[in-house]
Amino acid sequence: MARTGFVAGNWKMHGDLAQNRELLAAIVAGSQTLQNTSCAVCVPYPYLQQVQLMLEGSRVAWGGQNVSQHSHGAYTGEVSASMLADFGCQYVIVGHSERRTLYGEDNQSIAEKFCAAQKQSLLPILCVGETLEQREANETERVIAEQLDAVIDLAGIEAIKNSVIAYEPVWAIGTGKTATPQQAQDIHAFIRQRVATHSNEIAAAVQIVYGGSVKANNASELFAMPDIDGGLIGGASLVPAEFVSICLASQ
Ligand code: PGA
Repeated sequence: MARTGFVAGNWKMHGDLAQNRELLAAIVAGSQTLQNTSCAVCVPYPYLQQVQLMLEGSRVAWGGQNVSQHSHGAYTGEVSASMLADFGCQYVIVGHSERRTLYGEDNQSIAEKFCAAQKQSLLPILCVGETLEQREANETERVIAEQLDAVIDLAGIEAIKNSVIAYEPVWAIGTGKTATPQQAQDIHAFIRQRVATHSNEIAAAVQIVYGGSVKANNASELFAMPDIDGGLIGGASLVPAEFVSICLASQ
């Protein structure tokens, strides 16, 4: 089955109203000819309404960068999936490595967030990936299998159908060090095989995107690999021409 491409920008904690306006206008203009791929921007919560107003009716979807595992209640500072849905979000990133390392999110809470997002019909972009120490200790596959299995165990394999998996080696995020296309392909193939132990059909259909220092000048060779369906883009998603070229490369 032919999978379509997918590129999401992860703005992280960047932007302001004026900069966002310029960036979004450029992305809308540059994305008008996109075919066989979809693209989205995942933005800080306070800008969701601005993004919704500017992107509604365009080819670009939007989402959050995190979500609470709870539906509502006394959770100061948290944002629920239904709140994201209220602002037209289609996607939400769950389990980004910065959430795992800086905010102590573990496989269990990430699996719960994944389920909370799907309950509100959001598509979770589930991030998995190993640190440099884990890679050097030959633990990459074990770590990724655990990250993936925690979600499959809680949500069930059918839930993977309505999600995107992002392979983001921690050592490649924001470092300018990209995994080589072959290194990334090997892990994408591993992830797909792991899903295939439950369902061949879902493994063949699920989009697996790569993240970690993707730029306009390396996107095409990464996306040309058979199991790499697109990208999750940090730094380069803040530069309009870069992000648009990366989206175009995923067609
Ligand atoms: P980067 O970030 O593209 O700046 O490496 C990717 C990410 O953290 O999703």
